[in-house]
Parts: sequence; C-alpha cells; structure tokens
Amino acid sequence: MKKAIESYWRGERSAYQVRRTLVAERRAVFETLREAGLSSVPCNDFSLYDQMLDTLVMVGAVPERHQGLFAGENADLETYFAMARGTAEVAPLEMTKWFDTNYHYLVPELGPDTTFALHPDQPVAEYRQARTLGLQARPVLIGPVTFLRLAKPAPGVDPGFDPMSLLERLLPVYEQMLTRLAAEGVAWVQLDEPALVQDQPRAVLDATAVALARLGGLATRPKLLVATYFGPAGEALAVLREAPVDGVGLDFTGPAVTNARDLATIGGLPGKRLVAGVVDGRNVWAADLRRQLDLLTTLQGLAEEVVVSTSCSLLHVPLDLEAETQLDPDLRRWFAFARQKTREVVTLARGITAGTTTIRDALQASDAVLRHRAGSPITRDPAVRDRVDAVTAADTHRPSAYPERAGAQARRLALPALPTTTIGSFPQTQALRSARARYRRGELDEAGYVQRMRAEVQHVIRLQEALGLDVLVHGEPERNDMVQYFAEQLAGFVTTRHGWVQSYGTRYVRPPVVVGDVSRPAPMTVGWTRYAQSLTGKPVKGMLTGPVTMLCWSFVRDDQPLEETAQQVALALRDEVADLEAAGTAVIQVDEPALREGLPLRAADRAAYLGWATRAFRLATSGVRDDTQIHTHMCYAEFGEILSAVVDLDTDVLSVEAARSHMAVAGDLSRAGYPSGVGPGVYDIHSPRVPGRPEITGLLRQALEHVPAGRLWVNPDCGLKTRDEPEVRASLANLVAAAGSLR
Ligand code: GLN
Ligand code: ZN
Repeated sequence: MKKAIESYWRGERSAYQVRRTLVAERRAVFETLREAGLSSVPCNDFSLYDQMLDTLVMVGAVPERHQGLFAGENADLETYFAMARGTAEVAPLEMTKWFDTNYHYLVPELGPDTTFALHPDQPVAEYRQARTLGLQARPVLIGPVTFLRLAKPAPGVDPGFDPMSLLERLLPVYEQMLTRLAAEGVAWVQLDEPALVQDQPRAVLDATAVALARLGGLATRPKLLVATYFGPAGEALAVLREAPVDGVGLDFTGPAVTNARDLATIGGLPGKRLVAGVVDGRNVWAADLRRQLDLLTTLQGLAEEVVVSTSCSLLHVPLDLEAETQLDPDLRRWFAFARQKTREVVTLARGITAGTTTIRDALQASDAVLRHRAGSPITRDPAVRDRVDAVTAADTHRPSAYPERAGAQARRLALPALPTTTIGSFPQTQALRSARARYRRGELDEAGYVQRMRAEVQHVIRLQEALGLDVLVHGEPERNDMVQYFAEQLAGFVTTRHGWVQSYGTRYVRPPVVVGDVSRPAPMTVGWTRYAQSLTGKPVKGMLTGPVTMLCWSFVRDDQPLEETAQQVALALRDEVADLEAAGTAVIQVDEPALREGLPLRAADRAAYLGWATRAFRLATSGVRDDTQIHTHMCYAEFGEILSAVVDLDTDVLSVEAARSHMAVAGDLSRAGYPSGVGPGVYDIHSPRVPGRPEITGLLRQALEHVPAGRLWVNPDCGLKTRDEPEVRASLANLVAAAGSLR
C-alpha cells in the first residue's frame, strides 16, 4: 500500500490502481484472519492514510479550506490526500500522537459552524467485500466521543471552543450510519472509544452516557460493542456497564489488568459481551498463555459472554515474526508479532471453549518459552544488576551547581556571546544512505565504509568552519536512525529486519526491542567524534540519544518496570559520556526528544514517570567534570506539564524547537526559573524555506527579552538531516550573520 500510494503521489500510478491495490490487500488480510480461525473479523480498519481522517470523511467534516479544490472523478481522493499532506497552497491538518503510541493521527478541525453529514461509503464497501469472501465482518468506527475529544478548534475559531459541544449535532450521523449498516445486514459494529482510558471530566462521562443511550436506543441497529484500550477504563467502566449496548471491550494487559478488579467491584457486565483484550496488541512478547487463560476464567463470571481478543488493534506491532530469519531461533520464540498474536487469541479461545487439554501443547510451549526467557543470561546480567543496585543519589548529581560549572566551561571553551551551533545531523543524502545499505549488504567493506563516512564528516566540518559556527557537530552520517544506531551497539537490544510499524500515513519505523539487561560492550560514538575533533580547533559536540528516548522509541520489556530498564540504559550512556570526556570532548549533547511523549495517559501516573525519567537522564550525564558542558535537545515548544522536569534535568544548555511559536518557550522557561543556557530554535527545519537574517535577528531579540545574552544560544529547531545542502548553507549563513550582528 505504501508503494502504491507514494507512486500515486508521484503521478506514476492512477487512482484506479491505488484502489485495486487497496482491495487486493484488504482481501489478503480478510483471508489471513479467516484462516487463522477468528470467529469475528473486523473491517473498516484499512486506511489509505489514517483512521481519524477516514472518520472525519465519514461524518462529512472536511475543513472549508480543503473543500472544492478538485474536480473530476478523483476529487474525493485528492481532497483526502490534501487534508493529510497539504497542497502547494493549502496547509494540511495538524498531525499529532495517537494517545501514548508512536502513531500519529490527523487532528479534525471543528468550530461552532461545523455541520455533519453521513458519507457511509468506506464502511459499507469494506463490509461488502468481506461478505463476498463469506465473512460476516464487524465494521470498526472511531466513536463520537473519541472523535470529538481528539478534535481541536479550527483556525480562526475561538481557541476556547470545545468540540464536545458538537455531540448533539454529530450523533444523528452515527445513528444514520448504524441504521445503514443494519440494512446491509451487519450484525455487530465496534465503536472505538480509547478516549475513555484518559482522565475525563464528569461532563464528558455524562455526555458519553447520553451518546450511548441514544445509539443504543435506536430501533433498528446492529449490536454495539464499545471498545476501550491503552489502559484501565476507570470511571468510564460504570458508564459502559449501564449503557444500553451489547458488548464492552477492555484492555487487560500490563497495568490495565486492574480492569479485572474494577469490573468485579462494579458487579461485572450483566447481560453483555465482554471482549477481553488479553493478548498485548502493543508489544512484541509472546503471551503467557497459562496466565491469560486463568485471567479469562476469572473474567467469565463477570459477563454474559467472554470473547478473547488483543488489547487493541495490531497497528502498533510488526506484521510477521516469520520474516525475521536472521534472529537467533531461541530468541525468536520469545516474540509474537501480529500474525502470531492472532494465533494466540485463537488458541486461548479454544482453551476456554473446548477445555485446556485441547491446547495442552500450546500451553507447554508457552511455559517453555517463558522459562527460557526468565532463565536466560540475556534477561539477567548480574554485572548490570549489581551496577544498578550500587547507584547512589550522588551519581545523579553534577558535583557543582550551574553557576560554577558555567564559569569553568566559559574558561575552557572561550565562546563568544550568543554562541552558534546546530542540533547534530547534516543532510542525509541519497549517496550516504546507499553507502550504508551497501555496507550492510556486504558490498562495501568496513574500510571503504569508514573512509566514505570520514569524507562526509570532513566535508561537514569544513562547511561549518566556513560558515563560522562556534560549536561544531560531526553531522551523524553514520546513523540510520538516532535510536537504532545505538540499539545495534548495545547489549540487551535487538533490531529487526522487517519489523515495520506505521508512524503516520505512508511512513514506517522499525523500533528496536529491549530483550534483556542493557550494557555497552564498547564505545559507540567516540571514534567518529574524535575524528571530527581532529579536523578542527573549534569544539565538536558529542552526540548521544538519551535513555528515555531510547525506550520510548523501542519495544520495551514487559518483565520489569520501565524505570529499571531506563537505569540500565542510563548507565550504558554514562560510560559513553565518560569515554567522550576522556577523549577530550568538551561539549556533549544527549537528545531527549521523546521525554514529553512518554508521559502516561492518566495524571496520577505522571509524577512517578517524570521522576524516574529525569533521574535516568541525570544518571547518564552527571558523571562529568565541571568544565564539560552537557546539552540536551527537545523538539517541541510547549513544555506544559513537563516544564519543571526539564529544569530538573540540570543541563548546561537546552536547545528546543521555538521558531513556529515565536520564541514563546524562552518566556516559559524563564518563568519556571530555568537557570542555564537555552537555544530556542530560530528556524523551522521542517520547511525548505530559508529564513532571512532580519527574521532571525527579530526572533533572537524576542528571546533576549527573557534570556540574558550570556545564556542565549543560537541554533535551528532540530537536526538538518531532511534538508538539502544549499538550503542548509543559506540558512546557517543567515543564522551566523544574525548572531554576529547582535553581538
Ligand atoms: N541529534 C539529532 C539530529 O540532529 C536530534 C534528532 C531529534 O531531535 N529528533 O538529527
Ligand atoms: Zn529535534
């Protein structure tokens, strides 16, 4: 699908061909699920770009700016992609994280004048296709509450506008959809309401009750399943229990296993079907079949009927473990990807309905895998454990406070006021990517590869010197990805060959997996940094990915608290920081762009997360001398709830995204008492636009209203890897000139 859609965008394939591919892929998925033996197969979950966008189309909420742009038979498809990606003239919808996953959805824009109208085509078409294959599929719709809770006020609308106020107007569209699906012969419809696992105000829970009463009260409708996932349903459980719907989906994995206790407390779901998400849909571990079977047995008393399921859609895990032929077969048994998870669901259901003896072999195999995993030296490395146990509070504190460190660093680095730097990466050209690929395939030997990368480092150093930047970087040409690069070198991580997971639209990432105790067998970046430093008299920044980001962008262990894994990663990075320092690196940046997205969905869990996350960062970075300068980088401008945690990181310099929000972050940090250096990004690296010198000077003047000149740094918003060299040259030349004129 990715290839079909992208070639359509390039004009190499017709809309007809894209639709053919969609239909063929959908058919393959339906058939796979049927062959796996699922008794109920979902549909309407096969998107050309994003399911929220599909829902927006279904309810007829296309923003005005995207309407009427196209004519002809492909107008709908073109409009769809215009909302997703924008056009030369019109901005796309904003994209943001789907709950606490790494998937991004498109944010509906609504206002008091928004009207809705039903466009039932996609759910109906998918249902009909499944029916031609002999399947009675279950259309999945994002529910009205989640749709509205994830929407935002349209541009130009009062920012205080609450999309939930449109519920009354939206419900008739859902009613029509359900009536329409009933007429098609649909037996069950699934309404996804993951918003119910977040803290919702009473008014939203009440509105949910009203909405479900309306939809459930329809005279002619399919049976309704309301699905929640990504955590415990909490207070929403009682609402779901009382609602006139036929089924409720709950997550029973990880901490959400408390749903079982809460369900018992409220007296279960009398008269309803419980869809029990006992197979983890978000992580890659093989299920503990025996434990999940026990759980299912206890759940059986709590509803009229229990159906076995994954905890959420399988969008967030890779497709098929069978493809990972390079993984050690012993290790491979520890995992289950989407296809394997489907089988686990079917096995558990058989165990429940036909008795445990019918799945004896599967249970024994599952026991053996768990025993093997628990007893493996990969899982428990005594040296790592001892080291974590020996960590003291002193290890998470720099020896001196910022003012003293700043003095020592100023003497060592002798930087001008408003020092200029970049965030790390320089353009990742096609030539670099293909050199890495050739090296991986064995077509380029190690020496040839190193030579090629060194040539690039040299080029980037010369470029920065010519531009007159003050603190240089080596450009990261050797890194495929800021997490994978380290995961490949750390013990305790494995990477996959085909484990692609959708990030947004046609973009996919391949998250590494933390399989066991993490340690660093050998230095990871020191050689490159030392080489870069050997080429110049200016300081070269060492460049690492922080412990929280390493975890947020990987699949994590399910057999110990995240905090413990974070400490292990932090200690491995601490060694790297120490080696960089010993190699003469005076400035070390530890990126934590994922600190904010790791924030738990429920407010009650956030303080604990921020506590261990900041401790892990400090454990990684506090072992250095006063005159070694620690930087961190984050790619967002609104810190909100994490502001005080950011102050707690106790870095010497923080670079952040700020250009698009007019430097507001500088004021936020100063109001929070942020004491040290700050580099609010002065230009947006997401755009090919070259910022002019006056524009940058203006932004810096704004920043100077909040940050004293002695602490202000000058840098772009983020790394430059997606830009091309002429843009980078022109933009950085203006950046350096702007800093110079202000000095
Ligand atoms: N150092 C990384 C780079 O410059 C940071 C990337 C990021 O913040 N996401 O690419
Ligand atoms: Zn960034």
